[in-house]
Amino acid sequence: MQNPTQYAPCPSCGQSNAKKVSYTWWGGALGPNMFTHVKCQNCGTQYNGKTGQSNQRNIILYFVGSFVIAFCICGGLAAVNFLLQSQ
Ligand SMILES: [Zn+2]
Repeated sequence: MQNPTQYAPCPSCGQSNAKKVSYTWWGGALGPNMFTHVKCQNCGTQYNGKTGQSNQRNIILYFVGSFVIAFCICGGLAAVNFLLQSQ
């Protein structure tokens, strides 16, 4: 019955007093929600509260994914701009 949080224990120190991270530099407000990103209140490690493992891979995928999408949008706009100006 001693289960103060619904998150998996910290992969670094084993404590289970993690708190949800609401905003991160890599994912804004959406990223940490998608990956159940939590922060250990004992040692400060940030990890996936669902699996109890590091979110590093998800973060990189999310970061690269959003970068590619932004790049495609910018590239698409540049292409449209180029086509419009060339006529
Ligand atoms: Zn910890």
